[in-house]
Order: sequence, then C-alpha cells, then structure tokens
Amino acid sequence: MRTILLGAPGAGKGSVAKLLTEFDGSVQISTGDILRAAVQEGTKLGKKAKEYMERGDLVPDSIIMEIIEVRLQEPDCKNGFILDGFPRTIAQAQELKQIIDRLNIRLDLVVNLEAPLDVLLERLETRRTCSNPSCQEIYNIKRNPPADGGKCKKCDSPVIQRADETKEAICNRLETYNSKTAPLIDFYQKEGLLKNILSLTLPETIAAIKKELNSLNKH
Ligand code: ADP
Ligand code: ZN
Repeated sequence: MRTILLGAPGAGKGSVAKLLTEFDGSVQISTGDILRAAVQEGTKLGKKAKEYMERGDLVPDSIIMEIIEVRLQEPDCKNGFILDGFPRTIAQAQELKQIIDRLNIRLDLVVNLEAPLDVLLERLETRRTCSNPSCQEIYNIKRNPPADGGKCKKCDSPVIQRADETKEAICNRLETYNSKTAPLIDFYQKEGLLKNILSLTLPETIAAIKKELNSLNKH
C-alpha cells in the first residue's frame, strides 16, 4: 500500500505509521525522523534544518523534496510506503504528484488523523522520544513510559523530550499546521483519496485504517 498520514502534531502519525508497517510490509518514511537523525549526526542537511525545527517552523520545501525524491527510489519502497509528516505544504503535495507520476506508481489512500486540540496538547507535552537517531521509538510518560532510568525498551538509549517540545515551539507547530498543512485535507479530498479517521486510542485507529485498506483491496 502507498499511504499518506496527515494530521496535526500529536495526532498520532508516528505511532500509527509504526504499527501499520507491521501490517503490510510497507516502510515508514518520516521526514521528521530523517531530519532529527541528520541534526543529531551533524550532517550538512542537519545543519540546514536545525534552526527551523527547534522553532517549530517548516524546513524549506526544496530541502524536503530532495530527501523524498531520493528516499522513494530506494528498493525497500517497492512493497509500499507510509508517508508520515510529508507532504506538509500544497507545494510539497504538487511536487510529490509529479515524482509519483515519474516513478509510474500511484497513491492508494490518504488518512487524515483527527483529534481535539486538548488531546493534541496533552499528547505533545507528555510525549518522549528515544534519542538514538536510528530508533526514535515514541513513549508517553503517563500511558507508555520508557524502562527504568528513562531508557528505551528497544535499544537502551536515553529517552528524551524533543527540542521542539517546549510550550512555545508546540504552539508554533500547531499554528504552522493550521496555516500550511491543513489545506492538504481539501487537496486530497479533491483527488478522491482522503479518509478522515478519529485518532483517540491507537488500537481503534489502527482497526479503522485496516478496514479502509481492506475495502480498497476488494475493489
Ligand atoms: P510533528 O508531526 O510532531 O510536528 P515531525 O517529526 O513530523 O513532528 O516534524 C518535526 C519537525 O521537522 C517539523 O516541525 C518541521 O520543522 C520538520 N519537518 C518534518 N517534516 C517536514 C516537511 N514535510 N516539511 C517541512 N518541514 C518538516
Ligand atoms: Zn530506542
């Protein structure tokens, strides 16, 4: 399956994407994870992206498109992919359309994960992330805490709060989402690909998405 996950920060894109890859062998492509890894490793890309990310601003489209164009051509994308956190602007969505055409593939579904603002805020404030760039497992201090000593259950690295998880950056990310990313809901509605799914508990959300994917398979 070739899927896009849309949704505000805290809507659950990362957690949902990780579980969906186990379902059908698609790879998760998270531009946020790719950028955070680059920042931690101090690469050229990371140096360009760092300041935008810490403020909660979007990284320029040109940088993002370069990452995506290369990533979508890697062999593991043959079984399908789940785009998590991309596209985030109309310009990115338009360029993605061209890349997809050039690669001679098509998108199956765009899932818009919905949750009320108070739920988003609470999730963002209680979220913690594994600091190992190649892991980035997601935790929640209330509902899904890391192992003793704040260590990742998967790789034993320290679990930390992201640099953009301050109150100020969170507010800015939500505003950026509303002005730049929310218009994509309409864009994909017009393309006939959009499905709105309520994202309150993870098991229910996954079940609803699987149902959608199964009904696509039957057509
Ligand atoms: P969240 O969805 O929780 O805000 P992400 O991990 O998707 O977090 O993104 C973190 C940051 O990385 C964003 O605030 C932005 O600075 C940058 N980023 C990630 N994906 C994109 C993208 N497609 N376009 C522009 N910036 C991006
Ligand atoms: Zn880890």
